[in-house]
Parts: sequence; structure tokens; C-alpha cells
Amino acid sequence: MARSPGTQGKMRGVNLPGFLAAAGLLLGVLSRFAVQPKGDVLLWVGMGGAAVGLVWLVRSLRAFRERLAAMAASEARFRSLVQQGGDVTLIATAEGLVTYASPSVVGLAGRSTRDVEGQPLASLVHPDDATALGRFLKSAAEGMPVTAEWRLKRGDEWVWTETDAVDLRSEPAINGLVITLRDISERRSLEARLTHQAYHDSLTRLANRSLFLNRVAHAIARYPRDLKPAAVLFLDLDGFKKVNDSLGHAAGDELLVACAARLSACIRPGDTIARLGGDEFAVLLEGIAGIGDAEIIAGRIAQAVAGSFTIQGREVFVGVSAGIAEIAGDLTPDEVLRNADLAMYFAKSRAKGGHAVYQPAMHAELVEWLELEADLRSSIGGDQISVEYQPIVHLADGRLYGAEALVRWTHPVRGHIPTTRFVAMAEETGLIVPVGRRVLQEACQQAATWRRTAARAAELRLSVNLSGRHFQEAALVADVGHALRESALAPGALTLEITESVLMRRSEETLETLRELKALGVKLAIDDFGVGYSSLGYLQQFPIDVLKIDRTFVDSVAVANRDPVLARAIIALGQTLGIETIAEGIERLEQRDGLTALGCELGQGYFFSRAVPPDEFERRLLKAPAPPRVTPGSVRVLRPTPVT
Ligand code: C2E
Ligand code: MG
Ligand code: MG
Repeated sequence: MARSPGTQGKMRGVNLPGFLAAAGLLLGVLSRFAVQPKGDVLLWVGMGGAAVGLVWLVRSLRAFRERLAAMAASEARFRSLVQQGGDVTLIATAEGLVTYASPSVVGLAGRSTRDVEGQPLASLVHPDDATALGRFLKSAAEGMPVTAEWRLKRGDEWVWTETDAVDLRSEPAINGLVITLRDISERRSLEARLTHQAYHDSLTRLANRSLFLNRVAHAIARYPRDLKPAAVLFLDLDGFKKVNDSLGHAAGDELLVACAARLSACIRPGDTIARLGGDEFAVLLEGIAGIGDAEIIAGRIAQAVAGSFTIQGREVFVGVSAGIAEIAGDLTPDEVLRNADLAMYFAKSRAKGGHAVYQPAMHAELVEWLELEADLRSSIGGDQISVEYQPIVHLADGRLYGAEALVRWTHPVRGHIPTTRFVAMAEETGLIVPVGRRVLQEACQQAATWRRTAARAAELRLSVNLSGRHFQEAALVADVGHALRESALAPGALTLEITESVLMRRSEETLETLRELKALGVKLAIDDFGVGYSSLGYLQQFPIDVLKIDRTFVDSVAVANRDPVLARAIIALGQTLGIETIAEGIERLEQRDGLTALGCELGQGYFFSRAVPPDEFERRLLKAPAPPRVTPGSVRVLRPTPVT
């Protein structure tokens, strides 16, 4: 501590007695030359002054020695404190010039005490922290206790330090600002990691919703009229759920990561891409020329995602629907995202894999949808809901085989609501469960009555569609059992149509539910067969009795120069596995003939009849005077009713 300016000590305390003693001695000497008796007086005064001065001097010197000892002790304490702690202690002038550095500075700054002493503090800290340092020194010099965090240079890197200071300029042993620096780089990196986690999706490492909304807020704030437009893309994967349900969550996660990589490759480095949750992503495009640019990027994204993914050694496909909303200065980030979400919803409902640009009218449509939902909810038990029956016939001769029950909704104001439209809505809201329960009960009653009362319907088979949502309900098996008991319908006369996506879940519960349904004695059909997931493994695994060949495959039957490969394959598969096949959507005579030639025995479609209300079904199919028979290629039994 000898270098510390404070240790030179101030001799102010010994000056006065020293002066007295010196003056006394001087008087003594002068008295020799003075005339008596003045000389004696002077001598005595001088001697007295010198004596007092000397006594005083001795006492002052003793006090000074004691003070020096105390200072040395305090220095020793200070030294042991600053040298043993991990913290670095600096003493600096109010201007920030380092006058002392504790040895631990080597560890923190990678420089020796000698390198640091004599340097301005500013030369040690990050240039970006220079202003903070200036403020820090000023406050410290004003006697305020201060703490700050800044980066200290260590070789080529910067170390985060927490720094505090006390002003000890009045302490002679210190004579400066005592600055303590602590290495907080670990805490800082933990904080950075936590901040990253708070703003990023841990699976894909993309920004999360909070960060995304934050960026959108900035884009909105930067939105003056003359700047280039910015837009938000809301993306939702089509078919992701299928993969997730069938191959498991690990595969789903892998697919999301792979999708995230493809999405990222479609945008410029300055744009923000985020995963909002589940299979939803969002992109913020800034500085685009117009909304057309956003549409081009949406198209590019759709193309990139459309290519096959190899997940756990399997080839899987997904699509993406995009909603686009432009950023405007009077919107909140949530509103922009909601607009894009709404547009995505419209893109999805129109055609999967497309995109739509937000229009204010979409809100009105959504409101209508919500009203429709409320209306459906309140009408489930009433007579707005009805069931129609579409005949299923033997293709060879047109004899009636069975009927598919199809739900209908006649809205008091809006009239007939297309079934696909409200079934989709009912699936989404869960209303399909009570709707399905009602259809099941009503159709079982109807079929049982027909089987009892109409000779032509004695063997009638009834098909009822079962929603995937209803399939997940614990009460499903009880619902079916109840409908059978109430109607006294022979269980073997009832076929439940389920879609491939239900079987995709391939879980023990799925298998258990199917077994329980089979135990009731009912038959199981796969509806729209062939459009879903391309794995056929489940056909052997599950107790399936009927395959309903989807209309899309029937469309390619009897078309010039087209080989109906898939229809042929499905029919052959049915024959091999001993499963009945029913072709759906037969609209033309040639299709019926073509399907017969391929070995398909049963079918339904507008060629034979649309779905009709029960009284019409009775009139035309069960009570018609001539028995409904046709020979292949001859006139059809039932004239198709006009398409509405
Ligand atoms: P789906 O089970 O595949 O029913 C066949 C659909 O094709 C019916 O449409 C039917 O009217 C229509 N269709 C029949 N023949 C032809 C034809 O020759 N050409 C064309 N273009 N279409 C034909 P719908 O009644 O609109 O039903 C649509 C879908 O709604 C059904 O498809 C089914 O998935 C669902 N659905 C209908 N009723 C119910 C129900 O009670 N419960 C459940 N969960 N879903 C139902
Ligand atoms: Mg069906
Ligand atoms: Mg179908």
C-alpha cells in the first residue's frame, strides 16, 4: 500500500509544536545578544516556549506514530480483504484514472496490476458501456452508492461485471473511489438462456408467440404512410394431426422441426418466423413491395412443404394453409395476427394447401358461422334436424341392399345447410356427438320399422356415419347398444362407417373400442377408403367388414384412356381379405358397368338415387309396384333426382 498517495501522511499535526519549539530556541539564542535584563526575560520566555513546544512535539509525534500504526493496520486489513476475495478492487480518481488495482485483476481482465494502474477505466470497458461508466463515476464522486453492470475487456472477449463504488477520497489511507468488480458472466449467460427460452420455441428454436407479437408491435410502430408495406402470414399445417396420431408424438415433433427448417428457407434473413404452438407458424414480412409479394411467399412455402418428408424411415406428406394480413398503423399486434388467422381459416375451408388474404368481410362470415353454431346447438333435439336415406344397391341388378343414413339440417331462416358444412362445424365444436347420437337412434328405429313392415326391406342393411369425435367418447359403445335395444334392430343389420383417420390412432383404446362394438354384433366399414393415410397395415389389424370406395376413385372408372388403377386395387384388396366393397358416388351408367366389371358388387350414388326423406324412400323403394330390378347396362331403377 506504500504506493497509495494517502500513506505519505500529512504532518499538519506536528507543525505548530515544531514551530513553537523552534521559535523558543530562536528566542533563547537571541537572548544572548540582548541587553540585560531584557536578555534574561527573552531567555526564559524562549526556554519556556521551547519546553512547551518540545513537550507538545513529543506528544504529537507519539500521536502521529499511533496514527501511522492505525493506518498501517487498516491498510493491512484492506490489503487482506482485496487480495483474498475473488472480486477485483480498483482505486480510481473521480475522473476514472486507476491508481490501484488488486492482484485479482489478472483473473478478471487478463492483465497485471501494473498494466491497469495508471490507465483510464474507460480503456478497460466495452465502448457501448462508456456512457454508463461516465454516469457511474459521476454518481460515485457525488457520494452516492452506485451499482452498475458493464463489460470488461479480457483479451479478445468481454466479461460481464457487476460493479459498485464508494467514495473514500477523504480517507487518507485510500484517497480515491473504491470500485469493486465482480464477474457475473455465468449469471448473465443463464439470464440470456432464460430470456431466449422465454422468447423461443424449445422444439424448433424459432421465435415464440410473445417474441413474434413483439416484432409485429415494432413493425406497427414503424408504420408511416410512405414506408413499404409489411404483412403477417399465419400458417397451419394440413395433415399434421394424422401423422402425430398415427406415428406418435416423437414423429410429430420430428416433422415440426423439419417443417420449421423448410419454412425458414423460404424467407429472407430479416423476416421473423415463429411457431405459435401446435402445428401453427407465423411469418412477419417487412419491407415488401405489396401484398402480392406475401402471396408469392405463401406459394413458395406451400411448395416447399408439399415435398415428402422422411420421418422415422417413413415417407409422410403434409400441406400448409396460409392466411395473409397486412400491417396497418391503427391495429394492435393481436388484431393483425387474428386477421391473418381468420384468413387462414378461410383458406383452409376453401381448399387445403391454399392461401387467402384477409378481407374485413371475413369477420361477418365468421360471425355467421358462430351464429350457425349457436343455432345448431339449440336445434339438435328439434325437427330442424332430420335424417335422409340413400339406397345402396346390388350393382348387377339394382336390387336394394341397404341404406346410408345422412343427416340434414333445415335452418328456419337460411334453409337447407349443406351437410359437409355443418358437419365440419359440428366436428370442430363437438356438437357432432349429440347430433350423431340422435341420427343413430332415429335411423335404427326407421330401419327396424322397415325391416318389420316392408317385404323388400326384410334384409335391409343400415349404414350410419360415426364421427371421429364420437369415437373418442367413452359413451360410444353404450350409445350404440342403447340405440339397438330401443329400436330392437338386429345388430347384424347395422354398419358403422368410420374414417381412416380414426384407425390411424392405432392405440390400444381404438382397438378395444372396435372390439367392443364388434361384440355388440354390428359391422364396421371404412368410409371414403383410399383418401386417407396410405398404410394398409391396419386392415388386417382391425375387424373391418366393409370398404367404401371413395367417389374420387369411382370418378376415374369408365373414363376414356384412363385406367382406374386404384379402384381396381381396392376391389382386389377387398376380395383378397374377404371384405365387402361398396362404391360411392356412382353418377353414370358406365361407371356402374365399369365397377361391375372390376368385381365390385355394391354401390350407391346419384345414378340410383340421392338421399331422400324416409317417406319418399318408402314410396319409391319399398312400395313401388314393379320390383326394382335392372340388368347391367339397361335402364336404371331409380331416376336420379335433380342435383340441388
Ligand atoms: P359420406 O359418408 O361419404 O356420404 C356420402 C356423401 O356423398 C353424401 O353427402 C351424399 O349425399 C353424397 N353423394 C352420394 N351420392 C353421390 C353422387 O353420386 N355424387 C356426389 N357428388 N355425391 C354423392 P352428404 O350427405 O352431403 O354428406 C357428406 C358427409 O357428411 C358424409 O360423407 C359424411 O362424412 C358426413 N355425414 C353425413 N351425415 C352424417 C352423420 O349423421 N354423422 C356423421 N358423423 N357424419 C355425417
Ligand atoms: Mg358415409
Ligand atoms: Mg363416403
